[in-house]
Formats: sequence, C-alpha cells, structure tokens
Amino acid sequence: MSFHDQMSQHPWKEIAAQVRGRSASDVEAALAGRSVNLEGMLSLLSPAATPYLEEMARRAHRLTLQRFGRTIQMFAPLYLSNECVNACVYCGFNRHNPIERRTLSVDEAEAEGRAIHDLGFRHLLLVSGENPHRVTLDYLRQVLDRLRPRFSSISIELHPMGVDAYEALIDAGVDGLVVFQETYNRERYGDFHPQGKKRDFLWRLETPERGARAGFRRVGLGALLGLCDWRVEGFYLALHAQYLFRNFWRSQVNISFPRLRPAAGRFEPPHPVSDLHFVQLLLALRLFLPDAGLVLSTREPPSFRDHLIPLGVTTMSAGSHTEPGGYSRPTDAEAQFSVCDDRPPRAVAEVIRNRGYEPVWKDWDAAFLQ
Ligand code: SF4
Repeated sequence: MSFHDQMSQHPWKEIAAQVRGRSASDVEAALAGRSVNLEGMLSLLSPAATPYLEEMARRAHRLTLQRFGRTIQMFAPLYLSNECVNACVYCGFNRHNPIERRTLSVDEAEAEGRAIHDLGFRHLLLVSGENPHRVTLDYLRQVLDRLRPRFSSISIELHPMGVDAYEALIDAGVDGLVVFQETYNRERYGDFHPQGKKRDFLWRLETPERGARAGFRRVGLGALLGLCDWRVEGFYLALHAQYLFRNFWRSQVNISFPRLRPAAGRFEPPHPVSDLHFVQLLLALRLFLPDAGLVLSTREPPSFRDHLIPLGVTTMSAGSHTEPGGYSRPTDAEAQFSVCDDRPPRAVAEVIRNRGYEPVWKDWDAAFLQ
C-alpha cells in the first residue's frame, strides 16, 4: 500500500473535525500510555492539549535524551540555484518574481563548499529552485565530485526525481533526501502551486517513498507552516513518517518545521502559526515518533531556537545563506526567504554547549558503508 492509499483513508475534513473535538480526558488518556498511537496524536494536536504542554515538554525532553543523548547535529544549506519553473505563491524563487536569477558554476559551488567547510560544517544540504534543465544530473555529479572530499554527509533538497536518478545520486555520494509536501491538503494544494511540475500533488507526495526505495539513509519531511491548519498537517506528517518508518526501516526519518517567513512577493500566510502552537506541534511529533530526527532551521528567531533545544530538537542549521553564492562573497542574488537567526555558527554552537548539549559537526562518514 502506498502512502497515498493510506492517506486516502483519512479525509482532511474528518481529521479536522476529530482534532477539534478532543477533550481533556482524551489528552490524559494519550499521555497515560507508554507510547502514543494515532488516536492519541489527534488528542495531543488538539486545542484541549494546551494545558498539558508542560507535561508534554517534560516527556519530550526525557524521550529525546533516551534516544539521542545530549547532542545537536549541525548542518548548513548550500543554495545551488534560484532558478525555478514553478510558481509557488509563497516563495521568493517563484518564476514570476522579477529577481536576479543565478545558478552556481561548478567552481562557484566548490567555493561555497569551501566557505561552509571553513565555518566548521561537515554535513551539507544542497538546495535549489526546481529547474531540472539547469540543475541536471550531470551538473550535480560534477558538483558532488568537488564537494565530497570536504563533507562526511551530503543531503539534497532539489526537484523531486525518480528512483533511477536518486540511485545515481546515491552512487555519486548523496546520503540524504529532503522534500517538503508543503501542505497535505489536496484541495488547497493547487491554489498554492498553480503552475509547473509542482502542481502534481501525487508526484510530490510519493517522493519520500521513491527516495527511501532508492536507498537514501536519511529522508526528511515537512509541511510549510502557515498554509493550512497546522493541527491537521501535523496529523498527516505523523502518518507519513510512521509509514516510512514501517516500510523502509533502513532510512532515518527526519521532520522539519519550516514556518513561513517574509520573501519576495509578500505572501501573507492564511493560517499563521503562533510560537505556542509551533511548540505543541513539535512536542506532539516527538511523543508520537520517539526516533524521528526533528530539524530546526534559521527561519526561527535566536531566542526561540535556543529555548527549543531541550524540547526534542535533534538537528539545527546555523549561519545559513539562502541565496546562491552567499557564503563565499556578497551577492545580489535573491534569497528564498529572509533568515531570522543570523548568528555565526560558532555562536550557535556556544549556546548549545551552554545548554548542556554537544554540537555535533560530524556523526557519519560514507566510509562506513565501504
Ligand atoms: S518553493 Fe521551491 S518549487 Fe516553489 S517556487 Fe520556490 S523554489 Fe520553486
């Protein structure tokens, strides 16, 4: 059964009604067991769970210590290109936005990699707008040849591809895949993604499965917070991660929490997510998925990020540039969104240490598989 088949058994409207109908006793029942099931997850995402956030936080902290220890994995994104064939209404790289477009040459990508390496990072996320004619498999192989010697782990967040292309990228040294569904609300999906290949809801939805089938060691999911009701998105994220854990045991599943930030085009989120609700979502996912990596990006402000460290986060980016070429020299290229935590990576690492955690720059080496 594909994830889409499984998701079809849980219509959006029914989940929305259920999550709003939960009571305090449902939340207490969810918290009474040793683990949280899907029914419990609905309760933890519900408005009725608000008075229980402290209890959820204590349990999330305990669970994360048990599974991950006092460590925070560090990574940096490297933006290869801001060219895109899609027109996502919330994104600065939307093909209709009149911004300066740029795809890094292989030499420029290597210079970016060198600058990121000099900042201390050994885990890299290659990111790009979706233009398969500019960011081709051949181009990626050349870039990876240059970057591989400096990084122990390289993940990608690029246009969704088929299993064969993913296998080729794994052979070229990529070990992780990140793809955000943006929203699991199929009815609204087309409103936010009016043009380009990204209009195809199903192709995107099944990308994590294709990646896991191809053999990626890490697979990352996320919903863009602010597009639709976060409580319902949280349920589908949990369902999606659970599906991947059950069907592809070789892949570590990570969940990111991208919350909409200002970008070119000035899109206003129709369902803004407050800090409190952001925390509730993170805690509920930790309690439901004790083994999932939870990823926090520089979209969030410094003090908020610092407070989330003991609550279940396992992975953080720092010092990020979301414009191609931004690490190695000042550039006019447009950023995908404005970063909120612009502290240098070493300063973020210092905060992590001060909170009693170890910033981990390298926890994996491709040589393990050889
Ligand atoms: S979200 Fe991604 S696919 Fe959509 S316009 Fe931005 S870069 Fe392109």
